[in-house]
Amino acid sequence: MNNQTSGDSALQIMRTVPSLTIVVPCYNEAEVFIYCVDALNKIVTDLVLRKKIEKNSRILFVDDGSKDNTWLQITEAAKKLDYVQGLKLSRNRGHQTALIAGLSVVDTDVCISIDADLQDDIKCIEQMIDKYMLGNDIVYGVRNDRSKDSFFKRNTANIFYGSMSAMGVNQIENHADYRLLSKRALAALLEFKEQNLYIRGLIPLLGFNSDKVFYTREERVAGESKYPLKKMLGLAIEGVTSLTVTPLRLICALGFLTCFFSFLAIIYILVAKFTGQVIEGWTSVIISIFFLSGVQLLSLGVIGEYVGKIYLETKQRPKFFIDEQTTD
Ligand code: UDP
Ligand code: MG
Repeated sequence: MNNQTSGDSALQIMRTVPSLTIVVPCYNEAEVFIYCVDALNKIVTDLVLRKKIEKNSRILFVDDGSKDNTWLQITEAAKKLDYVQGLKLSRNRGHQTALIAGLSVVDTDVCISIDADLQDDIKCIEQMIDKYMLGNDIVYGVRNDRSKDSFFKRNTANIFYGSMSAMGVNQIENHADYRLLSKRALAALLEFKEQNLYIRGLIPLLGFNSDKVFYTREERVAGESKYPLKKMLGLAIEGVTSLTVTPLRLICALGFLTCFFSFLAIIYILVAKFTGQVIEGWTSVIISIFFLSGVQLLSLGVIGEYVGKIYLETKQRPKFFIDEQTTD
């Protein structure tokens, strides 16, 4: 493990009260926004009053090219509420990129990223700040109960975490993108320039002291998931290709295995030929053609995925453009 996950008692570094930015990526969240801004504004107001965070703390909503009136709602909230700010991307770039866009403009002592739908328990924000005060640079929000997730989502998530761990990837299980980062942890994260973004896989690579807070994941307050199966699969492929080359090694192992069995088959065929027991062999020929073609195409596909990622990385295209930003 690269990161040190520490219990409260292990750390004694005391810090001064931090300024906080809560970064909230939003894509077509018009139905949820009102609940979200209200809940987060209450939390921030309360934490400021109790001197847990500085007055210049804020809530930054990143509109990821929404097609509904999310941005309008953000700008109106920003006019009314002191802590609220907004950033609008020029088009939809996906959750991970929207998050990085928001994080890249943060200039406070700490930041917390959270989804707009209030599935993640916002009471943990205070616990995260407390753990930061004890000297942690990263505090992971971890779901200890996924019973509110759909059967499909829960099981695919378990399979994904299980296979990532089998491939040697150090990932915090049941942690998505609800986390606190200190200023220096955020600066370190922004050093990663890759297009192939899977933020939750990069965080453990940063090191620094870290801790976890646990919560029960609730259902969406309103609206529908903005992560349909296609986007979820895309994120899973980003995760694998961003963090490990084990699939390429598996292809190599598969190649060795196929060669080994082919060698046995050759011996068998030669023996059969010279002992005069040559069979017709149509079935075995057809099966091996189908099988080997399947293996080859699959392997090429996996290699192609990595080559494609290299191709996209070499272009070094900008990840996002900011269209508008609210003024203080
Ligand atoms: N999101 C985004 N861009 C996208 C898709 C999603 O910014 O293209 C945001 C979305 O508004 C939400 C967060 O990412 O704040 C997580 O999405 P969602 O809650 O729909 O995912 P789920 O919880 O269903 O996995
Ligand atoms: Mg959600």
